[in-house]
Formats: sequence, C-alpha cells, structure tokens
Amino acid sequence: MTTYNVVVIGAGSGGLTVAAGVAGLGGKVALLEKHKMGGDCLNYGCVPSKALIRAAKAVQQVREAHRYGVGNVTDPGPQDAKAIMDYVRSCQAHIAPHDSVERFEGLGVEVFLGGGRLRSANEVEVGDTGKVLRAKHIVIATGSRARINEVPGLKEAGYLTNESVFDVEKLPGSLMVMGGGPIGTEIGQSFSRLGSKVTIVSSTPHICPKEDADIVDVLVRKLKNEGIAIVDNSRATKVELRDGKKVVTVQSKLDKSTTEIAVDEILVATGRRPNIEGLNLEGAGIAFDEKGIKTDDRCRTSIPNVWAIGDVAGGFLFTHWAGYQGRVIVRNTLFPGTSAIDYGNLPWTTFTDSPQRLPRGVQDERPRRLRRRVGRLLREGRRRSQGEDPRRDDRPPSRRRPARRDRSREEVGPHARQALEHHSRLPHTLRDRPLPR
Ligand SMILES: Cc1cc2nc3c(=O)[nH]c(=O)nc-3n(C[C@H](O)[C@H](O)[C@H](O)COP(=O)(O)OP(=O)(O)OC[C@H]3O[C@@H](n4cnc5c(N)ncnc54)[C@H](O)[C@@H]3O)c2cc1C
Repeated sequence: MTTYNVVVIGAGSGGLTVAAGVAGLGGKVALLEKHKMGGDCLNYGCVPSKALIRAAKAVQQVREAHRYGVGNVTDPGPQDAKAIMDYVRSCQAHIAPHDSVERFEGLGVEVFLGGGRLRSANEVEVGDTGKVLRAKHIVIATGSRARINEVPGLKEAGYLTNESVFDVEKLPGSLMVMGGGPIGTEIGQSFSRLGSKVTIVSSTPHICPKEDADIVDVLVRKLKNEGIAIVDNSRATKVELRDGKKVVTVQSKLDKSTTEIAVDEILVATGRRPNIEGLNLEGAGIAFDEKGIKTDDRCRTSIPNVWAIGDVAGGFLFTHWAGYQGRVIVRNTLFPGTSAIDYGNLPWTTFTDSPQRLPRGVQDERPRRLRRRVGRLLREGRRRSQGEDPRRDDRPPSRRRPARRDRSREEVGPHARQALEHHSRLPHTLRDRPLPR
C-alpha cells in the first residue's frame, strides 16, 4: 500500500494550499473532497459574496451618480436577481479552474472525490468505497457551515443561508438578515442596494461586534442612510407564515419587549459550525468541542501527526488565515522541527461599501485609541486624493496625527483594504482573487 507524506481532508482554501505546497516540494499527497473543489470560499463564501457586492455597488453608483454632477440618470430600481446571480456565477466559473481536480492532478496531487473518515492516526477511508489511504501526516481542513439557531417556525417558514442565497432567482421585496456579523452585513447591504427592504437583527449591542463601536458607527450611519433597518440587542424568537409573508417575532434582550416584522425572505447568518461530523474524531482520539478541533500553536491536534487548519479549527474564519496555516503545515509536515503560527499580524476586511472596516494586529496590547490614529488620517487624505464626495456620511469620527511605526491599524472608509495593503507591506496576507471585468 502507498504511504503518502500527507493526506488532506477537504479541498477548500486550507486543504488546497497544503496539497499544492506538498506536491510542489516533491511530497506524495492525496486530497479528498466530498462536495465541491474550492470549498466555501469559491462556492458559497468570498467569491460569490464579493461578486454580489460588486454588482450591488454598480447599482448604487448609478443611484448616486447625480451627486457627482452626472445628468440624466434615474434610480435603477429593483434589480433582476437572476441576472445578478448569473454575473456572480460567471465570477465563480472564472476562478474555478484554479481550484479544479485537473489543475491539482497536474500539480501531482492525487485527488479523491469522496468524504474522508479517520480509521486510525495514519489511515483515512475514502467515502464508502472501502479504499484506505495510509499517511505519515493527516491534515483535516473540512471547513464550517452556517449555524442555525433553534427558532420555532423558522424551518417550516424556510430560510436562506450562504449556501442558497446566491441561487435566488427573484429579488425578495423584503429581507430579514438574522445576524449582524460581517457575512450578514455584507450580504444585507448588497440586497438593499439591489432593491430589497432589508432589516438586520443583531443579538449584540452593535453590528460587527468584533470592531470598535465608533468605527462601526460610521458604517451604521451609512447603512441606515441607504435605508437598512438595524435592530440591535435583539433576537428572533418565532417565525410564522401569514398571508404569504414570514412574520418574525423579534425580542429585545434589554427590556424583553417584542415586535413583529413581516418579510418575504429570511437570511440566517448567525455564525458558523465546524464540519466535524463523520470524521470519526472520537474513534481516532482527537479532541474537539463545539467550536472545532482543538489544536496547539502549530496546528497540531491531540494526535501529533494529525493537523487541523482553517474554519474547522475555529479561531479566525478567513480564507487567508486558512491558507497561511496551510503554508505552516507544509513546513511542519515535510521538514524537521515545527514552526508556530504568528497570531500577531492578522488583517481582515469587512467588505461593506463604501465604509470598509479593516482591523489589523489582533494582539497589539496598546490602547485602541492610539492604534487607530494612522487609519483615520489616511482615510481623510485618500478621500481628497481620490476625489470622493467630501459630504458623504462615512467620514471618520476624528482626525489625529499618526503614531510612528504603528503596527496595528483600523481603517474605515472607501478603499480601506487597499490602504492597509499599501501601508502594511503585506500583500500576500490579504486574500483577494481578481474578478473578471
Ligand atoms: C458568505 C461568506 C463570505 C466570506 N467572505 C470572506 C472574505 O471575503 N474573505 C475571507 O478571508 N474569508 C471569507 N469567508 C470565510 C472563508 O470562506 C473561510 O474562512 C474559508 O473558506 C475556510 O477555508 P477552509 O479550507 O477552512 O474550509 P472550506 O473552504 O470550507 O473547505 C472545506 C472543504 O472540506 C470539504 N469537506 C468537509 N467535510 C469533508 C470530509 N469529511 N471529507 C472530504 N471533504 C470534506 C467541504 O466540502 C469543503 O469543500 C467568507 C465566508 C462566507 C460564508
């Protein structure tokens, strides 16, 4: 029986990085995928959501063109969702060859289309084919999926998640987004710009709870000005079907008062669950909890030659994080010794438009007020140099001089991501696949 250097379970951002890296260095590697090559990022995550955001931005630019003196433009009105999603699919199709079976086989990876299940610390079963792959190292990169909270009536009424929202054929007249995290906020703003009446219900005191309140305040002003209703500190407690509408009872966490909101469609974006089922983690003796597989700072599980990366290991759920961990794993599985993950310099962006929010440097211990100085100053200068409308409602809360050699930064404003890339000199840490023009 062949013994692989590495068997990788899951062909998303993390798994593909490991497979390509190991094969590129001459290692023998097998890659298992039970659903679609490319994982969440290509099929249900970054790529379709960014394409949707781009299409929605085009609509908004037409809507706002008069502010720049452009004549003879009228509000484009509600959009044809099917046409927009056709554009989204064309973006995915453009990128899919990069993640395809053919490309990876061309790189020297043995690809198996089937679910992976651990038989032991060195053996992986491929689906129900009875085939068993032997490996020195096993990498679990099985990702995550939408977490659906128990809300009475939700299942019966029906709802969308990130797996189905990019397939809608008819634009909902009204949409409730359950969850005010980055996924809900990005998609919510896009649907609003396309013509849906959007309500975001967030269980936290403000949407995007991982960011500072004053940074989020800029975004909230923009979203509200675009017509989005935001209900903070609340959660959906019941859904009923009434006269063709989905009537959601929303309860305030503060005073327990309830309101009914009738909508045409619901998008559930209330967090993620790790894909750990069916892997036989218990049988193999691998520790995990509801947040995912437990790993050390080298991405090693409780079994030393079994590694876990990306969303399935919890922590930061980003494509570039999964890819970065994948690169560390290539080093740790093929060469003597092991390298640790550097948690100190992780950038991320929430791609709401036009205030994008972009924190960086998650472990910086300095006071946050100090850390934001550079970003705020840059933002003002950029607005001027790029001819942005100075009256816009996404101006920064204040303007200060930048701290020298500031390693950490939060940006809010148009082109926040590009500013961070330029000033951080970390072009490879931000995931940004080009979309077709
Ligand atoms: C709507 C949305 C937008 C997002 N936007 C961004 C963004 O802009 N930037 C960003 O950095 N991140 C973004 N993310 C997060 C990003 O998609 C994930 O962090 C990333 O895909 C995680 O990569 P992964 O390799 O861990 O898992 P995945 O990409 O999910 O890949 C896991 C793969 O494993 C497969 N699998 C599962 N179980 C098995 C098994 N037993 N056997 C074989 N295969 C299996 C799955 O089918 C899947 O293909 C977004 C996510 C969503 C939902």
